[in-house]
Amino acid sequence: MFKIPIEELTKKAYNIRKNLIELMYRSGSGHLDTSLSLVEIWISTVYSDFFKFDPNNGAWEERDRIFLSEGHACPLQYCVNAELGYYPIDDLFNTFRQPESPFQGHTKRSLKHGFENSNGSLSIGLWHAYGHALATDRYVFCVAGDGEFQEPSSQSLLFAPFNMKPAPNFTLLLNYNRLAQDNMVDLGPIADVAALYNWQVLQVDGHSFQALGEAFQQAIKDTERPSFIVCNTTKGKGGAIEFAGKLGHHGVPPKGEEEYKAYLAGLEAGRQK
Ligand SMILES: [Mg+2]
Repeated sequence: MFKIPIEELTKKAYNIRKNLIELMYRSGSGHLDTSLSLVEIWISTVYSDFFKFDPNNGAWEERDRIFLSEGHACPLQYCVNAELGYYPIDDLFNTFRQPESPFQGHTKRSLKHGFENSNGSLSIGLWHAYGHALATDRYVFCVAGDGEFQEPSSQSLLFAPFNMKPAPNFTLLLNYNRLAQDNMVDLGPIADVAALYNWQVLQVDGHSFQALGEAFQQAIKDTERPSFIVCNTTKGKGGAIEFAGKLGHHGVPPKGEEEYKAYLAGLEAGRQK
């Protein structure tokens, strides 16, 4: 199912969460809680046994692709790609959100760094990714936010396999943490709607490597339809326990040493489970 055992993936998840907390605290900016909710989803994708890429040749035509549409979660993408060997982690820590840095507050497309798409404007990444899936026979995954999916411009992607052409090599991963910037999110019957429009729909615990891995295997087996995987997650997962799943922490890095320590305490508590 994965290139390495789940125990190793769990260690990677811990290290990436630690780097995220350090990066946001030291820089004083960035979307920490959104990034924390995506850790298992992103790791599961790039470490799936079928998913091919080459950190030494980011533009390799035969690579599989992962797009980030909810672009404010880019710190997670930055930390994972450092782990994968696209660049040293120090490059990220030394230049995050500084002028001319490849690591801005939203992703700028750079195949050298493993970044498939520029983002920032919500919904755009979804269509960019779906277009890629139509143009290549490689696997294309796209991560979207539930806040993003409140917009009709995002929801319209669900009609694509029916009104346009199905891209069975495409998998849409919805980070359903039920929180947007300043409101709770309820997407209602979105899974049923997707199924009506010719998607294979799966619903999983978005923090379970086992569940995600199994869903991905099911996604690639379906050679007729794209897959829509609703990943139920907790915003701020593995960070400060008192902030996880709560409104008011979107785009807010740890403020002061006390909050920083609360994030680290939550990280350690999650490790012991
Ligand atoms: Mg959300």
